[in-house]
Amino acid sequence: MKVAPDPRLDALRGSAPRLNYNARSLAALENNPRCTLRAVLDASGSNKTAIAAHTGYPTQFGQSIFAITRGNNFEKMVKANGCAELLRVLREVLELPIPEVGYRDLNDVGGASGLSVRYTETEKLLLAAARGDADGTLYDHPLLRLEVGGQPVFLEPDLVAFKFGAQFYVVEIKSFPIVDGQADTALVKSATTQACAYILALRTMLAAAGISNPDEIVSDKIVLIGPKNFTNRPTGAFVDARNQVKNLARQLARIERIGNQLDLLPEDLTFDLAEDKDGRPQRPRDELLDALDTVPAAYRPDCLNHCEMAFFCRSRARAAGSLDVIGSTVTEPLGGIDTMTMALGLARGELEPNQEQIEMAVALRHAARLRAELVDTSSTSMRSAR
Ligand code: SF4
Repeated sequence: MKVAPDPRLDALRGSAPRLNYNARSLAALENNPRCTLRAVLDASGSNKTAIAAHTGYPTQFGQSIFAITRGNNFEKMVKANGCAELLRVLREVLELPIPEVGYRDLNDVGGASGLSVRYTETEKLLLAAARGDADGTLYDHPLLRLEVGGQPVFLEPDLVAFKFGAQFYVVEIKSFPIVDGQADTALVKSATTQACAYILALRTMLAAAGISNPDEIVSDKIVLIGPKNFTNRPTGAFVDARNQVKNLARQLARIERIGNQLDLLPEDLTFDLAEDKDGRPQRPRDELLDALDTVPAAYRPDCLNHCEMAFFCRSRARAAGSLDVIGSTVTEPLGGIDTMTMALGLARGELEPNQEQIEMAVALRHAARLRAELVDTSSTSMRSAR
């Protein structure tokens, strides 16, 4: 069912041009589903980079030019000669019994590279494959589309989708190393979360064309391709993204209900920077800070990897003494203790724990005693060494 965009979102964005979702901002939804601030900034198409800079907390975000070049070169090498190296990995490493396959380059259609032309061609080819009129074909840079909060979002996967047997697989080509079949967990999560948006877009395309069982036809196993053991030779691994696909689908459904979150915000709220004709924000900084402070944020250290507002939110969380700045490995065991002040007060015995906090208060006092002993021992050793 199509949902019309909520007009209040335009007021939140103000005079700035709308920024649409992309694969990275959709992936970020899955990374921090509790954050209302991110949800309304993205849904309104606000420019988070400009807003963060005007608050005084600009974020250096994105890959270095060196990393981007390395990634592009690796992808080019994997796809050279009709994806010859990719086919070797799919056959040898992943043991997929792939016969001879076709290769379709969807970066342009007969020289035309407009979004709608490429989307139409992608749709035509993928639907033909799904109906069994084409088989075993690699599709280079297919253009997919998702409807998010009433807005069309074009997704141009940095990948190849291929049909093997009765299923489509999404292939992500990344330049981080896969060592003995394992790769950096955070990098894998970020790559696969983006791929989940492609899986949902593919399923949506098939469902809209009346093809039954799109959830089965498009596998939720992602094929991750990366350099093997720090060499330039590609290898691959399957990544099960079932839970991430479900989480992202839930978050997309939540965007359709963004009105519920807007209902809780002040009616005159806006993130408009009131830029002059040269693009310089004229809105007083304190006014913008006040506006942002009316929206609940759920900062955690992981935000530094995926959100332009991270330095701003970290400063707010620190100022509020929130334990969230430390990360979930510390905060989860401290359930029921929300702030640094409370944790330190209990550790020093200056605060009386309530019933739920008694056990944790004992552990905190014990940790504080051990720390004091260690500090004492190391100061004594330093004095004797002089
Ligand atoms: S940085 Fe701030 S706005 Fe972005 S996800 Fe984290 S808490 Fe939300």
